[in-house]
Amino acid sequence: MKLLTEHTILEWLESVKDPEVPVLSILDLGIVRKVELINDPINPFWEITITPTYSGCPAMDVISTQIRMILFANGISNFRIKQVLSPAWTTDWMSDAGREKLKAYGIAPPQYSASGKDNSKVVCPNCGSADTTVISEFGSTACKALYRCENCLEPFDYFKCH
Ligand SMILES: [Zn+2]
Repeated sequence: MKLLTEHTILEWLESVKDPEVPVLSILDLGIVRKVELINDPINPFWEITITPTYSGCPAMDVISTQIRMILFANGISNFRIKQVLSPAWTTDWMSDAGREKLKAYGIAPPQYSASGKDNSKVVCPNCGSADTTVISEFGSTACKALYRCENCLEPFDYFKCH
């Protein structure tokens, strides 16, 4: 039997997608904080630490269930899923690969909030113009805002920072 490593588990978890934005895996989103083998002398187990993107986000139940299913499917039953609420998830944890996938999907990725990058302008994912206007603070889901590009006139979703 192949030795199970943290890396292997992370590879499995890559196939768990955000139900609201199916192009993003939970690794892209930065929801999975840690995968660790806890060496309990009697009953060693894998601990998967996750931080929900939004408190009370119904997607988190779906995500936890999918994590369980993928581990069971790979013959792993000695695991626990630990939810950590603090520090709170922020869009800064989203990977650069995740941001590129969002853009390709037609959703403007969140700007970095903490870094020094200019976060005053949301860039249109269709044409790259920064001449954009917010139409509604609530887009197709509470996690997104609806924008319109003044250059190509296309409406688009913006994944909100927080
Ligand atoms: Zn545009």
